[in-house]
Order: sequence, then C-alpha cells, then structure tokens
Amino acid sequence: MSLVALVASTTRARAATAAASRTALIRRGVRMYTTEAPVQPAAAEAPRPSKWARRLKWTAYAAGAVAVVGGVLAYRHHPMPQQEPDPTKKTLLVLGTGWGAISLLRRLDTSEYNTIVVSPTNFFLFTPLLPSVTTGSLESRSIITPIKYFLRFKPFGIKFVEAESTQIDPASKTVEILDSGEVHGAITKTRLPYDYLVIGVGAESQTFGIKGVREFGLFLKEIRDARKIRTRLMDCIETAAFPGQPDDEIRRLLHMVVVGGGPTGVEYAGELHDFLRGEVDKWYPEIAPHLKITLIEALPHVLPMFSREMIEYTEKSFADMNIDLLANTAVQEVRAKELVVKDTKSGATREVPYGMLVWATGNTMRPVIKDLQARFADKGQSNRRGLVVDEYLRVAGMPDVWALGDCTATAFAPTAQVAAQQGTYLARQLNDLARTNRTGNDILATCPPFDYKHRATLAYIGDERGVSDVSLPFWSNMVSFAGYQSYLFWRSAYLSNLYTLRNRALVAFDWTKEKLFGRDISRE
Ligand SMILES: Cc1cc2nc3c(=O)[nH]c(=O)nc-3n(C[C@H](O)[C@H](O)[C@H](O)COP(=O)(O)OP(=O)(O)OC[C@H]3O[C@@H](n4cnc5c(N)ncnc54)[C@H](O)[C@@H]3O)c2cc1C
Repeated sequence: MSLVALVASTTRARAATAAASRTALIRRGVRMYTTEAPVQPAAAEAPRPSKWARRLKWTAYAAGAVAVVGGVLAYRHHPMPQQEPDPTKKTLLVLGTGWGAISLLRRLDTSEYNTIVVSPTNFFLFTPLLPSVTTGSLESRSIITPIKYFLRFKPFGIKFVEAESTQIDPASKTVEILDSGEVHGAITKTRLPYDYLVIGVGAESQTFGIKGVREFGLFLKEIRDARKIRTRLMDCIETAAFPGQPDDEIRRLLHMVVVGGGPTGVEYAGELHDFLRGEVDKWYPEIAPHLKITLIEALPHVLPMFSREMIEYTEKSFADMNIDLLANTAVQEVRAKELVVKDTKSGATREVPYGMLVWATGNTMRPVIKDLQARFADKGQSNRRGLVVDEYLRVAGMPDVWALGDCTATAFAPTAQVAAQQGTYLARQLNDLARTNRTGNDILATCPPFDYKHRATLAYIGDERGVSDVSLPFWSNMVSFAGYQSYLFWRSAYLSNLYTLRNRALVAFDWTKEKLFGRDISRE
C-alpha cells in the first residue's frame, strides 16, 4: 500500500470512530458542541432554465426599460392635447416663475381657474446651483427649465406672458405689465384684470445704498449674473497675463473679492477657489501664484444660519484653502479698482485693490413691491424687508391678494425651501377655495395656517467639502456633518431636487465632464 493510500484509509477509520462515539454520546443525552455546520441533506435543485429561456428573460427586461424611457420621452415631446382655460372661471394671476410660483403652479388644479402667469423670465432657475455656473462647473442651461415644460403638462392650459409687472392696483384688481425684452411689437404695456392675485416676484440684491456697488460690483442672483461673472473672471485672468503687465497690476487683477458671508458668498468663494486651483494653476502657471480670494463679512462669522461646528469648520477650511476671511469688516465705498473698507471694531479704514468684486449681501424689495407698499403704508405695509402677509399668506390690507417667497416679510429665512413650501400650501388653499365655492376672504373657514417644516441647511464650501445641518423626522436635534460626505450629500440632494429628468441628466453630465476634462476656460 502506498503512503498516500495508507494516510487516506487511517483518516477514514478515524472519522468513522468519531461519528460512532458522537452518536453514542447523543443517545446518552450529552450535548455536543462543534464548530462544524451540521450536514444538511442535499436540497433538490430547481432545474436550471435553459440558455434560451435566460436570454428571453433579459431581452424582455431590456425591452421593458427601453419602452419606459421611450414612453417618457415620447410623452415629453408629444404631450396630450390640452384643454383651453375656461374664461367663465375666476382669473388667477400669478406673478413670477421662481421657487414659490412654480411650486404653486405644479400643484394647482388648473380646471378650476383661468390662470395667467406673468414673468420677465420664461424659465425656472434652480438657484442653489447658480454659483457653479460662474466657474463653468455647470452650464447655465443645465439649471434652468423652460416654463412651458411645466405648464404644457397641466390638463387645462395656463397662459404665459413674458413681461414685468410694473404696478399692482388692488382697488381696480388690475396689474400693469411691461414687455421688458429687447424686441418690441406695436404694444409694450397693458393692464391685466384678476379675481385672485399671487405675488411671487422674489427680491433684488441688497446694496445698502453703498456708493459704487451697482456701478462696479457684480451680483449673483440671476442666470445672466453668473454668465457676467464667468466672463469678467476670464477677462481679469487674460488681462493679468498681458505681456509686460506690472506686478502690482497683476496682483490687483487677480484679487477676487466676495462681499457677504451668507451661503451665496461662501459657496461662490468655494467655487472660485476650485476654479483657480484646478484650472488657472494648470493653464496660467506664470500668474497663478498671484491669485488671491478675499471674503468680506460685516459680522464676526460667516454662515450665521448654520450650527457653531459648521461655522468653525468653514472658517478653518477657508484658512486651509488660503481664502482670506475679513470678518468684522464693512465696505464703505466701491471704486473702479479698489474698495474702501472699515474695521467695525477699531474703526480704521483702508483701501483694498481688486480685480473682480462679487456682491452677495442679501435681498431688498423689487420696485413693483416698493411701489405697492408705499401706497398701502397706512394699511400695515411698512416692513422694509417685504410685503406683510398673515399666516395664510394673504397680503395685509389687500383683498384676494396672496404673496409668497422672498418678496414677503415673514418669520422665515428667504430660502427656496420656504418659498416652495408656501407655493404648495397656497395651491392647496386655492384648489380648496374653488371646489367649495368660497371667496378669497373665507379661507379661514377650513384651511390651517402655513406651517414651515425645515429639512436641511446645506452649503458647498470648496475643495470637495460641504457643511450640512439636517433635521431628521421624529428627532428633535439637528444632525450636523461636514467634509467630503457632506459634499456628496449636497450634490445628491440637489441632483434629486432638480424638477425635471432633463435637468438631472444635464447636471450629472456636466459634473462628469468636469471630472474628465476640467472646466472650460474660454471667455464668452
Ligand atoms: C446664488 C443663490 C443660491 C441660493 N441657494 C439656496 C439654497 O441652497 N437653498 C435655499 O433654500 N435657497 C437658496 N437660495 C435662495 C432662493 O433662491 C430664494 O429664496 C428663492 O428663489 C425665493 O423664491 P421666490 O419664488 O420668492 O423668488 P425667485 O425664485 O427669485 O423668483 C422670482 C420670480 O419672479 C420673476 N420676477 C421678477 N420681477 C418680476 C416682476 N416685476 N413681475 C413679474 N415677475 C417678476 C423672476 O423672473 C422670477 O421668475 C439661493 C439664492 C441664490 C441667489
């Protein structure tokens, strides 16, 4: 017998002896502990489907997916016929196509109203991603949605008029509108009558009347602002690279100043940092060492609406990224090439040369709202932040007029979250109002007042870092987290919050494009 056969037969004999003694012990009631899994009888195996059956199954899955995507696309390109709005119904006039108005229109039962929308922009702008457009991380068209994409899919048509409302007259129940586009026809101004009016015109950038801001500063509120910033940024860089440019002038041209330490200013500074470090370092190495970003804030800290830890994390990250934070500093005057700033503690003033200035210090009322307020000052309309509304969003002193979003003065922060929730609330109220044949003033009869549910405060701060304060359902405390996870959370939250599949696809595509090829540095 060979050695191998001998070892095998010995092992078999030992295993048989062990099994016999185990059986004997079990019969005597002694429990055995073993690390080996008990041997199960082999289960009867289901017959494996044939190769053709498997192929057929996967083909059916693929065909199903193609049919669903194709169906959605076909529906988007060829929407069902839409019914004409009923002129005998009450006329609901909506001013604006921003967060508040779109949220309202998406949920409004259009069969109940003869609805008209007036806005100078024929699209909805997803503002939270606007800072990314200034540096080319996202293309401007990726974050706007034509208003028709929303209105065309309602069962009853909604009339859209591209115009600016210039005067609201609650006494005659009319709104004066002006064609503010560049191309004009025979008529540019008219008055639209309404039964119910919803004002959602947003706000303008606040300058506090500081000299030179409108003339030399750039704002970040509209899509055209982001395009202007992108152009100016590249202009500063190319001018700094002009042959023979003196060092002092290069330093001035490459000094980018952001005024305002709220989310818009902080996010813009972060995006700018990524652009300068990611693109200018690579493509303009000769001038890149002179690049500098300064963020000026009048308060002691940035991001006042965030938790303490998130504020500290942001300020520390800015120090890591070489973004100069000038806190407790107020801008007193803006000149063509320098700012005059004052230290609010010591009172000392100094001049700060700059190449580009982005001004992001909050909101002020639009002219149409200022004008309306001035005429209703004696009816409780004297709040400098916006229109005074009650807890049902009815404008004080004006029957059948509601207002929402940034044009109002409420206890809530001027955010997209608030405006969108107000839009949803108002749509429910108006649907209810029409179905129960009540009038605008009877709304108190059944509707609960508006109740804001805060979900999260998020910001991108640059260098693939984010800060998040998130409210969880059934949990009274806020959950805060910062860094790379927060950046991923910020991205996924905004990607999923974009209103259309088209915008989600475009934004995802832009982000992928940026990762693969970098940002486009051509000057438009
Ligand atoms: C850069 C940036 C980033 C932001 N990031 C966030 C964020 O991350 N999270 C968040 O919650 N909020 C964010 N916000 C704030 C948020 O965008 C606003 O609070 C929100 O847009 C307010 O919605 P609204 O409907 O009141 O006004 P808007 O969305 O500003 O819409 C106003 C609408 O009215 C139209 N309009 C203007 N004038 C007239 C007129 N005279 N007549 C008729 N229509 C008119 C405009 O064209 C526009 O369609 C950000 C804002 C900016 C600028």
